[in-house]
Amino acid sequence: MVVGMHYTLKDDDGNTIDSSENKDPLLYIHGQQNIVSGLEKELTGKSVGDKLSVKVTPEEGYGERDERLTQVVPVAAFEGVEKDQLKTGMQFHAEGPDGNPLLVSVAKVDGEEVTIDGNHFLAGVNLNFDVEITEVRQATKEELEHGHFHTGAFDH
Ligand code: ZN
Repeated sequence: MVVGMHYTLKDDDGNTIDSSENKDPLLYIHGQQNIVSGLEKELTGKSVGDKLSVKVTPEEGYGERDERLTQVVPVAAFEGVEKDQLKTGMQFHAEGPDGNPLLVSVAKVDGEEVTIDGNHFLAGVNLNFDVEITEVRQATKEELEHGHFHTGAFDH
């Protein structure tokens, strides 16, 4: 099934992390792990017009924070980047502890020391979704083969 929904995502303090407000509904193919498992599970069997609030723990969201993915490295480790260009939130590709590629972001710049963090920015965060289902339809054979939905604008 292709499912469309409007959603608002908040943390436990009520801060909005993400929302489809003033945008097109989010579409995903149900059962293909296109969205976090804790939300997908709750959307099973829902129909157009259904509204629900879902709390997703890190375990079923973006995982717990892994402190092994946080490291302090010297500015010199950033080849081709000047010290004054390094800013919090910048992202780099690096190699993770298991040797796999990892997207890391700069968490802090302190003199010659740079703290980098390879955790997803929502790791360790409870995800509070408010969802309204806007569309439910059968996925086409082609969509299932591609693993993503097609619209008029995105069709291949
Ligand atoms: Zn496709």
